[in-house]
Amino acid sequence: DSRLARLRARIGGGLGASLLAIFSRGALSQDDWDELEETLLLADVGASATDDILAGLQARLRAEPDGDPRTMLRAVLIETIDPTLDRSLRLAEPGAGKYEPIVVVGVNGVGKTTTVGKIARMLVAEGHAVVLAAADTFRAAAADQLETWGARVGVPVVRSDREGADPASVAFEGADRARTDGADVLLVDTAGRLQNKAGLMDELGKLVRVVTKVKEPVEVLLVLDATTGQNGLAQARVFAEVAQVTGIVLTKLDGTAKGGIVVAVQRELGVPVKLIGLGEGADDLAPFDVEQFVDGLLG
Ligand code: GDP
Repeated sequence: DSRLARLRARIGGGLGASLLAIFSRGALSQDDWDELEETLLLADVGASATDDILAGLQARLRAEPDGDPRTMLRAVLIETIDPTLDRSLRLAEPGAGKYEPIVVVGVNGVGKTTTVGKIARMLVAEGHAVVLAAADTFRAAAADQLETWGARVGVPVVRSDREGADPASVAFEGADRARTDGADVLLVDTAGRLQNKAGLMDELGKLVRVVTKVKEPVEVLLVLDATTGQNGLAQARVFAEVAQVTGIVLTKLDGTAKGGIVVAVQRELGVPVKLIGLGEGADDLAPFDVEQFVDGLLG
């Protein structure tokens, strides 16, 4: 399928070449195990997940010594990421006319505004009427960028013309607009200044509370940049403390050999990865499919 091919091509490097070398030498020596461990760590799978994955592979090989280790590793990776989690956005069918808020959070530069635009595009394609709210009021450029996305995707954008306006008031106005338009989804872009944890907590906590007061968000999506590795994981923990994060969007998986961060992120946070960013274009967002992803990683 073309999406799988695209994913394979875009998860730059993947683990394919290293694994092929390791698994082509017959029975695994200690050196091979070491190399496998190093390969997983370099892909940002994280130390504890790597230990578990290697233990899982060893157990399978003990039970079935003639089995194909690559197939077994595939199964262990799929199991570790967890194919049973619900990864869909928790939205009602389009046309109900009772808008549902989705709040998108994350640090500046991770691809948050781009992701909001891409999600809007995806939801519009599914038949949802969408309103965007530019609640990142600290940078006028952020609202301009969102407006560009709104025009591209064909959805209204609510913003403040005043830099430094209260983000919560923009969210309120967005809610008003969504209500009067009979929209299905209010997509709220937020500020991502992580200058200090307390400041972020205050701002983001307040915004989420305000949006929640108007209407409980169906999703709080945390956007993480796959290329920032364990640092991104530390950011994710901070956000998870402030907001009830319901899903992760992992961006910039194209052109990184660090795709293993998916395993680490989900395991550490206990929140499902729901969407992945595979490029800068409007259509470069895909639902996260565990098997496809693992095949891309191993490909
Ligand atoms: P924000 O500050 O978090 O809102 O980040 P932006 O949406 O402005 O994105 C920062 C940069 O990352 C821009 O140049 C985007 O085009 C780029 N970007 C966003 N998502 C992706 C992705 O999935 N892949 C790639 N390669 N670039 C991305």
